[in-house]
Amino acid sequence: MTDRPIPFDNTYIRLPEKFYSQEIPTAVAAPKLIRSNPELAEDLGIDPEWFASDDVVSVFSGNAVLDGSQPIATVYAGHQFGNWNPQLGDGRAIMLGEVIGKNGQRYDIQLKGSGQTPFSRMGDGRSPLGPVIREYIVSEAMAALGIPTTRSLVAVVTGEPVVRESVLPGAILTRVARSHIRVGHFQYFSARQDLEAVKALADHVIERDFPEIGEANHPYIELLEKSISRQAQLIAQWQLVGFIHGVMNTDNMLICGDTIDYGPCAFMDEYHPNTCFSSIDHGKRYAYQNQPAIAQWNLSWLAQALLPLLDEDSSMAIEIAREKLNDFVDEYQLAYMEGLHRKFGLTVMTQESVKLAEDFLKLMTREAADFTLTFRHLSDIAADSATQPPVDYQLPESFTDLLNQWKDLHGQEDGSQEEIQKRMYTVNPVYIPRNHLVEDAIKAAQHNGDLRPFHRLVDTLADPFNHHPDNNDLTRPPEPHEVVLQTFCGT
Ligand code: AMP
Ligand code: MG
Repeated sequence: MTDRPIPFDNTYIRLPEKFYSQEIPTAVAAPKLIRSNPELAEDLGIDPEWFASDDVVSVFSGNAVLDGSQPIATVYAGHQFGNWNPQLGDGRAIMLGEVIGKNGQRYDIQLKGSGQTPFSRMGDGRSPLGPVIREYIVSEAMAALGIPTTRSLVAVVTGEPVVRESVLPGAILTRVARSHIRVGHFQYFSARQDLEAVKALADHVIERDFPEIGEANHPYIELLEKSISRQAQLIAQWQLVGFIHGVMNTDNMLICGDTIDYGPCAFMDEYHPNTCFSSIDHGKRYAYQNQPAIAQWNLSWLAQALLPLLDEDSSMAIEIAREKLNDFVDEYQLAYMEGLHRKFGLTVMTQESVKLAEDFLKLMTREAADFTLTFRHLSDIAADSATQPPVDYQLPESFTDLLNQWKDLHGQEDGSQEEIQKRMYTVNPVYIPRNHLVEDAIKAAQHNGDLRPFHRLVDTLADPFNHHPDNNDLTRPPEPHEVVLQTFCGT
């Protein structure tokens, strides 16, 4: 084992002190490991032998601080459900430090649920077990689906109760992101008209997340452009797997383009554009079909914060911001439409194919078709014989005409039926973290301390595009009595 099992290399702490507060995590009574992620640890350059040792539990419960770790809680602000909140921050999270991964990418390692900080407001800084289980399952599933996301490195129970509507076991998740810098970090300093801080943060983000910008003529315009582009690509990917974030506040949007905050999130079972699960989203602001427009709205606040850096002339700066924000729509639309075509096994986009895709989604809405299984079923029937075990799913007769049109379009594609099917299998998952399965895993863990459903789900979701008949039960949509109507962030 090495002296420094985690090779920390911290940069955020070099920003002025107004950006953060140095905080040692509050110790917990009796931490125990729920699950750790050795593959991720290895990618982060963490000593594998150490990562398999008991030290992991003390470090990732906040009971011990490693050499090189400089724990901080950062300050930010944000718009929550459209309402401005000038003072937020890491209220139950503490960043242990940064590492440079094997791929050369810098990552933050952060505890979530590690006790109070100066930004906790009325909160206890803790997290119940349920949200930790949910975040572990869903964030790792997103990663396996190829969608940029924060990752889950370690989950522990604290051995301490957390009081919410009832008394629940406490837990801590160690979260990894390419960077935890949010739109809300920029908003915090912009709202205080601290232009120097906005500039320092922008320079930091460019160096860290967008080194390719380098010494460009207009680095801040490029920063805005690239942040917008990453979000456009990200939201398109969410839509294409039916992921509903649930709490797209500006403090829950990372500049680096990783998905963050698996609070009241959910994957949709039946396709309907208006689907919304969050118990706290009364106006359905963050419903499935609103996600692209909300992302653009959030980005307008990033643009607003960056305005003074875009151009000395304020009307010119506004013009630049407007233009870049408009680009979001085009980039999102193209990424979404191309992705939707790939789900249908199509690479050629024509008016006819776009109309087919749209008509298909409309009929799926009317028939309450399962989003994931419909596309997986299409993959199964794209060739005369399926090369993977087919899913147990049929479309109603009302789809006959559209299915014929779809098959005709395949005739215009390059490649054999088998090649088209193979492509479709790589974009249409068979396993997603369905709500009822996530709820089952949470319930078993919470009530009986039974982690088997959780582990089975995490293991299965690590390979979402290959159908293993042993796990057939994890492919099916919920029975009527299993349907989860609402999800809770549980903070
Ligand atoms: P979220 O709803 O997770 O996006 O959190 C919004 C804000 O509330 C952030 O500033 C969090 O740090 C803070 N927060 C959420 N839950 C807690 C908690 N249990 N204790 C302290 N702060 C919290
Ligand atoms: Mg949050």
